[in-house]
Amino acid sequence: MNEDEFRTARKRMVEEQIAARGVLEPRLLVVMESVPRHLFVPADDLPWAYSDGPLPIGHSQTISQPFIVALMTELLQVKATSRILEVGTGSGYQAAVLGRMAAEVHTLEMIPELAAQASKTLAELGYKNIHVHSGDGSQGWREAAPYDGILVAAAAPSVPKPLLDQLAEGGRLVIPVGGRGSQRLEVWSRKGDDFDHQEHLAVTFVPLRGEYGWK
Ligand code: SAM
Repeated sequence: MNEDEFRTARKRMVEEQIAARGVLEPRLLVVMESVPRHLFVPADDLPWAYSDGPLPIGHSQTISQPFIVALMTELLQVKATSRILEVGTGSGYQAAVLGRMAAEVHTLEMIPELAAQASKTLAELGYKNIHVHSGDGSQGWREAAPYDGILVAAAAPSVPKPLLDQLAEGGRLVIPVGGRGSQRLEVWSRKGDDFDHQEHLAVTFVPLRGEYGWK
């Protein structure tokens, strides 16, 4: 496929998989149409880069379905001034979307090889506002806290307390919570020392590991 074909596939992805399912934030749709997802998938999967599902990225991990990336980003309510933490860098695609929406993104990946590959891809694309860290994101990243938004791209057995602690006033945490096979997407928002929480649709993510994840 050439660049024109990828651009056409991206436009269709936004119309048919994202907007058609009710994710309509104009700034986000522009970003989803501009980030070259095909640069984040393994070469063998290029023909499926814009298909409606997750894809393997090695190390038993996946790049999430485009609709889920868009939905989680919309639920985060990212502003141009926001500082965001992502847990589970994987390929770096979700971070790339966040990097075009927000002022600053910190993203943590537990598998060093994936962190290194994502860092390289993001650098080649010219991102200067995304910082990839290798480590256990279930504990958050205190060095740059607090965050206006925290997005967890792996399934947690329960909400890790350090992530709630690292939210700024009014900040939002979007996280899949539940069993290993299926989870609910939850949104937590901070009001002083209290947290509101809402449940959204059922999802299936790979497990969150680490101190506050699955053992
Ligand atoms: N956001 C990614 C993307 O756009 O490609 C997809 C993330 S993939 C579904 C989940 C990732 O979370 C995996 O790469 C996995 O290694 C990572 N992960 C799992 N537990 C983690 C932890 N405690 N800290 C950091 N990363 C973790």
